[in-house]
Amino acid sequence: MTGSKLEIVCGACGAEALLRREAVYEGFRKTGERLICSACGHVYDSEEEVPFKHGEKPRVFTEADRSAEVKIFAPEEHARNCRYCKNYVVNPFTQWCSLHKRDVEATDVCDKFTRKPPPPKKPEAPVKKPGLP
Ligand SMILES: [Zn+2]
Repeated sequence: MTGSKLEIVCGACGAEALLRREAVYEGFRKTGERLICSACGHVYDSEEEVPFKHGEKPRVFTEADRSAEVKIFAPEEHARNCRYCKNYVVNPFTQWCSLHKRDVEATDVCDKFTRKPPPPKKPEAPVKKPGLP
């Protein structure tokens, strides 16, 4: 097994991309998973619809299929964005996931999400140097 990195040839944008999984909520209850193209964000409703690179033939999606997309964002999903993850690194040139060793976007959602701890409070106590006698 190679883990959760699944390569697809996206039926919507045609790119070779990775498959992303997102939890789907109805209200606050998790009801399943969505499968999302990491390149264009196209949502596959079930695993059978996913055009895996090593396996099934790529599917062609029609406009009707696209409009059937349902976008659900539960509050928890927002909080799982890369920008809140402790593996998310920003520098002047890129946004980087130190866990997956690849470029990410602040709005990406990752199943390896680890919440970033709140910034540490700087100790306010002044450090007194021992004075010479
Ligand atoms: Zn795509």
